[in-house]
Amino acid sequence: MAEKGLLLVLSGPSGVGKGTVKSAIVKNKVFPFEYSVSMTTRKPRPGEINGKDYYFVTQERFKQAISQNELLEYNQYVNNFYGTPKAPVKKMLDEGKDVLLEIDVNGAKKVRKQMPDGVFIFLTPPDLHTLHTRLENRGTESEDVIMGRIKQARQEILVMQDYDYAVVNDTVANAVDHIKAIVEAEHVSVKRVIDTYRKMVKED
Ligand code: 5GP
Repeated sequence: MAEKGLLLVLSGPSGVGKGTVKSAIVKNKVFPFEYSVSMTTRKPRPGEINGKDYYFVTQERFKQAISQNELLEYNQYVNNFYGTPKAPVKKMLDEGKDVLLEIDVNGAKKVRKQMPDGVFIFLTPPDLHTLHTRLENRGTESEDVIMGRIKQARQEILVMQDYDYAVVNDTVANAVDHIKAIVEAEHVSVKRVIDTYRKMVKED
């Protein structure tokens, strides 16, 4: 039987750039893995492909998926539902494939409860000063709104205490490099390989 794959959960505060980092990992096939395609009720953006970026479904279909227990987790985000289909994730892990999930912090919390052996990676902004400068340079928000955002970011950043790794998204290339290093290290961590060695020792 194949060794189980790693469940890799990439999450972090809103606006930190999870989607961009995930796309870079997927596009460049940075390490061997399968991407878990989420189900959503939001409309596709230009260029997004059904079945590749998301499964774009109606509210009715999403509700059915919830009631039939098809989702590992789901969450509502800005009037739309997002959820992780359970069966494909389990199947890929059983086949020994690593599976990458890119989900919000609420979803990650629910996954951790069900699959505590997963590798939970928290993407962070470089620092609050940089976040402030980024928001200011965007020029679309008043100082009041910016301060509100910074306050929210302070709270969201502390969520990292429930994660295994914190990766700074200073540049996408750096973040991707760090995530690759984490995955490689996890594959050789003793807690993951010990069973294989136990079997080997027994056979000899
Ligand atoms: P977007 O609409 O920009 O693609 O995604 C909005 C938010 O939904 C992002 O924070 C993204 O990480 C999150 N998201 C995407 N798929 C899922 C999912 O299956 N479950 C949860 N909980 N969040 C998701």
